[in-house]
Amino acid sequence: MNTRFHVPTKVFAARRSRGGQAGGDAGNQPAPTPAGFSGTDPILIDPVLGDSPGRSCSYLVQGERTALIDPGSANAAPRVLEALKARQIEVDLVLLTHIHADAAAGVGVITDHFPKAKIVAPAGATERLADPSALVTDMKKVYGEQAETIYGLPDRIEPARIIALADGDQLDLGDRTIEAIATPGHTAAHMSYFDRSTTALFCGDALGVQLPGSRVVRPSTPPWDFSLEDSLASIAKLAELGAGTVYLAHFGAARPGPDEIFQRAADSLERWHRSFLKKREQTDSEEDLSRQFNACLEASLEPIAPSVRRDLEAVSPTQLNLAGLSAEQARLGRAA
Ligand SMILES: [Zn+2]
Repeated sequence: MNTRFHVPTKVFAARRSRGGQAGGDAGNQPAPTPAGFSGTDPILIDPVLGDSPGRSCSYLVQGERTALIDPGSANAAPRVLEALKARQIEVDLVLLTHIHADAAAGVGVITDHFPKAKIVAPAGATERLADPSALVTDMKKVYGEQAETIYGLPDRIEPARIIALADGDQLDLGDRTIEAIATPGHTAAHMSYFDRSTTALFCGDALGVQLPGSRVVRPSTPPWDFSLEDSLASIAKLAELGAGTVYLAHFGAARPGPDEIFQRAADSLERWHRSFLKKREQTDSEEDLSRQFNACLEASLEPIAPSVRRDLEAVSPTQLNLAGLSAEQARLGRAA
């Protein structure tokens, strides 16, 4: 049985940008003073995207050196930066789980402000950080001209500042070490980060999406290189680590905890994949397939409140999940 530690998380929401609406936001907490930060707890930063708290987050791990995990989209990162500056936090390393726009397009915003900070990313993603033109093309294929409005576009990152990671690499934060765990599936170049000293596991999108107000895990199977087989293998690999707390990019500490979350994630993914294949034998209609995805989600034993359903759709849209599985089927068909 795994040794388990309770790893409390402090949560603070980044202040709204000046253009944001004021008031009515339960996610905005009074700012704790820097002296109140513990050197061992991961801190969750919620940039309150789209004026909706609880959708997408960054994490701060403070050792002798400080690491920011997933700075968020180019539109979110200024809010994350504002929160860091308000608390006089220096970032030494920016760790990227992967380079989808919602996780990483804001990396340039953060690293411009911290010129000594290094950017750490899965080896398969570093080329696109240095030259994001292919990334922008992919974003526009998915979101059209809305890409810039939704996420903002990534900046080019100086290659000398990028550290390429392989599975098992160790990141030294001085008083602690973070281990890189390759977790392909959601996308091929995806890395999770494990702090063995606290047993905190930061798994990006490897398990899917679980938002406040529900324990349902929604699969996240986006284009263009989603792989079911790799996803399930990555979930199984993470389950073996002995994590005490599992931190999701969407959103916060996974519930009910590591004993169940991996199984829930695998079950939900397999159910979605099975029903997608079955439905696709009957219809090519995107509308029917979308309905099937949502029926699949609703088949979970727990009811989902309308507000949570809306947030799940915003974070992991049905159309993207369909497109990712369709792309995988096309790829497998070509390979056969
Ligand atoms: Zn992603």
